[in-house]
Amino acid sequence: MDTSIAYDVVLLLDTDRAVAYRKRAADSGCSLMGVTVAAFGAWVRDLWELYGDGRTFVSRLEREALLRAACEGPAEGCCVDPKSGKRAQLDGASGRCELAEGRIADDGVASAGAGETGALGLDRVAAACVAAGVGLPAFDAAVQDAQQGVPAGAGALEGVTCAEVPVLRMIGGYLDRLAQLGMIEPGQALALLPELLPQRPLHVLLEDAAPLTPGQETFFSACPWMDVEVRAASGSQGPVRAPEGVRVRFAFPSGQYAWPALLADIARDALGAAADRGAAPAAVAVPAAAAGPAAGDDGASSCEDAFGDADGCRVGRSAGTQAAAVMVAAKDPAALFGRVAPALVRQGHVVALRGRRRFVDTSFGRAICSLHRFLDDGQAGGASHIEGYGDIAATDVERWNRADLADWALSPFSGMTKKAAFKLDADMRADRTARRSNLCARLRADNPMFAAMERLALQLDDQAAAELEAAVRRMTNRSEAWRAEQLAALRALQRAAGAAKLAGLGADAAFDQVQRLKVSVSRIVAPRGCDGAAFGAPDVLVTDQNTAASLGSGSCEVCVVADLTSGAYPAADPEDASRVLLEHLGVKRADSALARMRRVFFALEHAATDQLILERCLNDSSADPTYPCVVLEEFVDCYRDDPTATEDIDNPYSLPERLQDGMLLRGEDALCSNDALSDAPASVAARIERPLTGAVSSEARSLVVLPRVLQGGQVLDEPCLSPSQIESYLECPYKWFAQRRLRLDDLDEEFGPLEMGDFAHNALHSFYKHMSEDLGEAKVTPQLLPQARELMADVLARHKALQPHLRQSENRLIPTSQVEHRELAELERKLMDYLDFEAELLPTFAPKYLEYDVACGGAVDYAGHKLLGTADRIDVDGEGRCAIIDYKGSISGSYALGVREEGRLGKVQALIYAQVVRRTLGLEPVGALYVCYGRRKMISGAYDGRVIENAHLPNMRHKDCMCADRPFSDVLDETEEAVAAALERMLAGDIRPRPETPEACKWCPVSSCPERRG
Ligand code: SF4
Repeated sequence: MDTSIAYDVVLLLDTDRAVAYRKRAADSGCSLMGVTVAAFGAWVRDLWELYGDGRTFVSRLEREALLRAACEGPAEGCCVDPKSGKRAQLDGASGRCELAEGRIADDGVASAGAGETGALGLDRVAAACVAAGVGLPAFDAAVQDAQQGVPAGAGALEGVTCAEVPVLRMIGGYLDRLAQLGMIEPGQALALLPELLPQRPLHVLLEDAAPLTPGQETFFSACPWMDVEVRAASGSQGPVRAPEGVRVRFAFPSGQYAWPALLADIARDALGAAADRGAAPAAVAVPAAAAGPAAGDDGASSCEDAFGDADGCRVGRSAGTQAAAVMVAAKDPAALFGRVAPALVRQGHVVALRGRRRFVDTSFGRAICSLHRFLDDGQAGGASHIEGYGDIAATDVERWNRADLADWALSPFSGMTKKAAFKLDADMRADRTARRSNLCARLRADNPMFAAMERLALQLDDQAAAELEAAVRRMTNRSEAWRAEQLAALRALQRAAGAAKLAGLGADAAFDQVQRLKVSVSRIVAPRGCDGAAFGAPDVLVTDQNTAASLGSGSCEVCVVADLTSGAYPAADPEDASRVLLEHLGVKRADSALARMRRVFFALEHAATDQLILERCLNDSSADPTYPCVVLEEFVDCYRDDPTATEDIDNPYSLPERLQDGMLLRGEDALCSNDALSDAPASVAARIERPLTGAVSSEARSLVVLPRVLQGGQVLDEPCLSPSQIESYLECPYKWFAQRRLRLDDLDEEFGPLEMGDFAHNALHSFYKHMSEDLGEAKVTPQLLPQARELMADVLARHKALQPHLRQSENRLIPTSQVEHRELAELERKLMDYLDFEAELLPTFAPKYLEYDVACGGAVDYAGHKLLGTADRIDVDGEGRCAIIDYKGSISGSYALGVREEGRLGKVQALIYAQVVRRTLGLEPVGALYVCYGRRKMISGAYDGRVIENAHLPNMRHKDCMCADRPFSDVLDETEEAVAAALERMLAGDIRPRPETPEACKWCPVSSCPERRG
């Protein structure tokens, strides 16, 4: 530091480091009068502004947008290989695929290497090439040759593949466009500046420098009047042992639940120790606010630092201290801060955050992205192939997702109360016919926030952005830090919007870009009621590794380096197509991911004055074991006698015994204390008795069955049930309770078995009604089939047309997708085919009662209690005998009478109706039948084999359903007896989960049931 005044210019890696350098100089009393201290990029920009030709630097976002526009241009554009006519082009959505590593495939698809999860779009490959290569003679010559039609392998294109030439040509076109726009690439400026700069001696120091890039090297060698000294950052060769006097400890939370709790423990212990010593932290640190600007998202400088509203003065911490006692360098500091800060603040500590958060993780980002997805016309467009259905195109309703609008409505940017947002969500979900255009029109009219966000999301409207900025500033009920974060996110979107507009792209392109951006976040929180002005720095600073490293050596007492897993910090460089292309042009990689990680780790090792704590979570969020990152392994090796040995580190911590001293461990078993981030016993706020399961309490027993309102308004106080309720209870008492009494129904209007069943029942009812009214026939016979089919077609058409006019509570059947339309057509086909089956069914009987209310508006007695219900159909013969028919879409084995041999009752609905009909209509029931109109037409249930011929019941397992050895009435009496016993249990509050068969559990809504089977 004392030598810095010997230089005119001190250049650092980034703005953070430049700011930290200036602060250290100021703290150590070193004058920087007349010395330029800046990041290299910012210095070049300044030089260009002073000596350049007036063109402005293009930003990363603008570069990517312009290249994307070039990719999306007409097919005869510059990214087409003139020989093959193939288009070496990808756009963000359609052309991604994973091919061989790190090359541009012959079809022009650029693929990412191992370091990337998906293939890069060609625009981004080109952008990476431009950023690294433009301004270098070999690259510029290759671009020029490609534009002039020189074939691959010739001239400056030696080593370049045919597929790479169109990319270079596209870059040439991009550079021409840039010149038209009066803009310039930083690499071009760097190449031009030596000619333009005044040739006067200049002492330049590159402090803490990474290896110079080819562009930097070319620049400095073209400026011989500059006296350049490069001080390489330490640590490139690998970690060294921690400085003398710094205690090294390792922390191993066993999983993600224990991770924040252990880090909070570490911070608390460290702060306690510091307070005990009564010593102020020793060296300089940069508090969140005073640290100055953080690097912006697109390389431009931006300052989004902000402070929380609570500041404080805490016992054991002297005011005015300039260093954080504990610094935590985490992979995702914003997430860690969110978890640990509230607990630490409650315990009286001041905690600060400096980090970056993904745009989509900010409140504004989440809200605008949700709204953009909702409004985006093209969402879920195209056709997809579905087995059995063929190619299906999405309908309008499928193109938008209700959850997207609900996410927006529940955000602070909807201007809606929570109640209104939930109502909007419930209304949308309860109505399958809700149209996006209607919802938008309604919201636009009532809600100025929606109107502004819609204009921003669809048109990138500047005025809308200004309105939203004003709205955020008015949100004074939120902390200043929160508002600053949202404004940063808004500005990020504006930058992406500006770039998209410059390139002539639409909102989709801007949203694609902004979703990859991060915004700087910074805040400080302290116990309520304390005076923040008294604080120079926080007790705990949570930040990322790079920022922590930039603060300099001795910047904290305790440095916790978190997340040291190979997953969080992979050492491999991404091998993508841009890298391969640059290598073909001889542009070498100046730096590597491993070298960068080593330099940062070295700086972190030297950041602590007292303790260096290295943390690795033993298991990741999928509970898979983690592995130490390379630098952690290298650091551990520094302390081992033989780094090639394996026995000494063959343990879960991968540590030799000497480093296991003072290890910090935390398991995941203590769920509550892990969640509360404290081992202190929680005070009892309220004691809630464990809820009764499997039984209804004696006080609530009278409510097991609610009073019924009969036709005419009479209220029936005594328990009154329907056959379907009884059948449901017999199937499983707890399922009955959940479905019928708790009504665990979804909010969404469905298109499922219930709606299909109601549609089929209503259509069949209407069909038979018209059979007798229009055709004067009660029964379908083989001779009547042609007329019956015509009638059925008419009935189905009318019922389909009626559905949208029904109330949601009437289980209307509204198809909203192509698949659902086909399902409805399939149902219609099934009902039409059913007529052939019907013509053979019970030829000696005829339908007489349709949708028959067995209680005739009141309630009838059954099994000692009241009962009401509607039988689908009752067929009667000329002898006064009847068969109860219950329509089913599908039938299982439980419908057959034969299941009683297995000691269970099986399905009882039709048998209950049969018994009631015997009493009320005076008919003699001889069958209780379940008739399936589904794909496989069949019958099940019970019938009197002495009365009904087997041939009159086609597709039935007669031996399972026939009752021939005793009167059919015995079956009805026996069923009533069993039902009576079950109803006693029900009314006594017995609702234990007791599935009659594993099948009962199949569609049961009680997801956490301990008795679930199958
Ligand atoms: S999961 Fe099975 S046992 Fe449990 S309530 Fe549902 S049906 Fe009954």
